[in-house]
Amino acid sequence: MTAHIRPDLATIPAYVPGRNHPDAVKLASNETTFGPLPAATKAIAESAELSNRYPDNQVTELRTALADFLDVGVENVAVGCGSVALCQELVQITCDAPTDEVLFAWRSFEAYPIVTQVGNATSVTVPLTPDHLHDLDAMADAITERTKLIFVCNPNNPTGTAHGTAELERFLDRVPEHVLVVLDEAYYEYMRLTPDTVPNGVEIGRSRPNVVVLRTFSKAYGLAGLRVGYAVGAPDVIAALMKVHIPFSVNRVAQAAAIASLEARGELLERTNVLVAQRDQIAEALIDAGYPVAASEANFLWLPLGDKATAFAEASAAAGVLVRPFAGHGVRVTVGDPHENNRFLTFATDSAAQFT
Ligand SMILES: *Cc1c(COP(=O)(O)O)cnc(C)c1O
Repeated sequence: MTAHIRPDLATIPAYVPGRNHPDAVKLASNETTFGPLPAATKAIAESAELSNRYPDNQVTELRTALADFLDVGVENVAVGCGSVALCQELVQITCDAPTDEVLFAWRSFEAYPIVTQVGNATSVTVPLTPDHLHDLDAMADAITERTKLIFVCNPNNPTGTAHGTAELERFLDRVPEHVLVVLDEAYYEYMRLTPDTVPNGVEIGRSRPNVVVLRTFSKAYGLAGLRVGYAVGAPDVIAALMKVHIPFSVNRVAQAAAIASLEARGELLERTNVLVAQRDQIAEALIDAGYPVAASEANFLWLPLGDKATAFAEASAAAGVLVRPFAGHGVRVTVGDPHENNRFLTFATDSAAQFT
């Protein structure tokens, strides 16, 4: 006889690793193409020498650096093993009955339904608008007395679309104060809305204790392999997150690399300007070739190809460029370095007749 395992887990698909071709270009995971900066590499090497010692479970040095950077208190910052771990921990601190509801847009970040189910709560999803944006009015309408947590992914993964400050504020005004709202800003550094519309969750959260912001070192800061994300919110939310945190799950090397990368942020954020220029050029070229392309504020583009999504991704892989299909919906293409992007664009424009 085998051990009892929660039967509901059978409905969570087992993780299927992305296909890897040895010399294919990988534009499938929204990673940064470049390796860590020399200062981060040095911090990684030095901290690795202390691997016999446990890391700081309170992550004090990094939390202090983040608090200084964001002009908040240390008690307003929690660090997780990637912000995806914080997503799961946010479900754990808010939901305590299977009927508790976690509300989010769909399609959005694939982790939301999984962490909700793992947390024994119920997912409630609201379709995106025809422009691939969160339908914030419909989301506010979908709040019930069972709603405990709301994820707002801004910019949204996988569509890249973002709402501005005014729309978010209007939505938040409609959310009861006892419902926690997560503004997932994993792609914050790539937003180029005008200065008065670019939403900064940390600023929005200053006057709203039911708002918690998630950001990560995995995207613009280029440390996806080391797993560091952070939450900024009210002290009671942060204290609860630290209670459910898996002890020592943010390792020593990750903490050191994040501190070094935060110090070197000027150089890292400079790179986002180059990427954003490329993103906008590729979008224009794809539109010229006849493709539908959502307005992106992130480091990727969304091609809503519907039933052609899987075939497009397969043809792209055969041409040496791995992109991310969402069967029946669309394809997400990460913006890489110019040589990678050109390889993708050559494929896409050569195949336009087949897929548009
Ligand atoms: C990539 C991503 C994250 C960050 O994941 P990490 O666990 O920090 O690597 C969080 N939210 C969204 C929407 C993402 O796309």
